[in-house]
Amino acid sequence: MPELPEVETTKNSLAPLLHQTVQAVRVRQPQLRWVIPQDVDKLQGQKLIGLQRRSKYILAEFEHDTMLWHLGMSGSFRICKAQDELRKHDHFILDFGELQLRYHDPRRFGCIVWLNADSQHKLLDPLGPEPLTDAFNAAYLTDKLKSKQVGIKVALMDNHIVVGVGNIYATESLFNLGIHPAQPASSLSPQQVEALVVEIKRILSFAIGLGGSTLRDYTNAMGENGYFQQTLLAYGRAGEMCVNCETTLENIKLGQRASVFCPQCQPLKKNTKTKQ
Ligand SMILES: [Zn+2]
Repeated sequence: MPELPEVETTKNSLAPLLHQTVQAVRVRQPQLRWVIPQDVDKLQGQKLIGLQRRSKYILAEFEHDTMLWHLGMSGSFRICKAQDELRKHDHFILDFGELQLRYHDPRRFGCIVWLNADSQHKLLDPLGPEPLTDAFNAAYLTDKLKSKQVGIKVALMDNHIVVGVGNIYATESLFNLGIHPAQPASSLSPQQVEALVVEIKRILSFAIGLGGSTLRDYTNAMGENGYFQQTLLAYGRAGEMCVNCETTLENIKLGQRASVFCPQCQPLKKNTKTKQ
């Protein structure tokens, strides 16, 4: 599943289309997570004037309308030459003349919808802060976690608390800090909360710098794979040896998601807070 760094990388790789005018709009398969709006052809004649990311959404700003794009489970955008052969699962095409933007999505959980004029959307409203902004800081996270009895990993992956910390990034951050993924969120020490904020920012920035992770069919709009996955120490490594202590990494299910951790380096502590 594309996560925040992949979406950021995708958004950045669409920059060659900025200030270009849509010549034609083509919908080959409107049935994504929601139906592609019928009036999407009003993009024809409009310039793409801005690209932003909010959580895992790309906000594509045209002269008169803004679209909200999400890659779902298996979506990807790529920039092609107009004469390049279409692929199966290329569902949505913006023709910019020489270049085309094609949305490809075998599982069709992505979305291509309008954003309202006031930049509000029911999909964006409940979202917590962006992890790479100052709004995501130790004081904020402490406040959000103080009443949470769920495991810290589930809390970190909750979009209402902070957006864009997917399974890979939560797993790796907790491994690097020696925190058990099922540790009750409210039991973390102030030092641990502070370290988590720093580590999440570090690991997301690092992943963005490497072009995101290569999760099976993830590529950016230029068809390039990311390199971050090659640096993962815990995610996807259950049954392998811990790089720190050579204990076998274990896998538990938390919030329906696989959670890999080292039982030696990430012991489950009771009442961490009172020990500090
Ligand atoms: Zn270990």
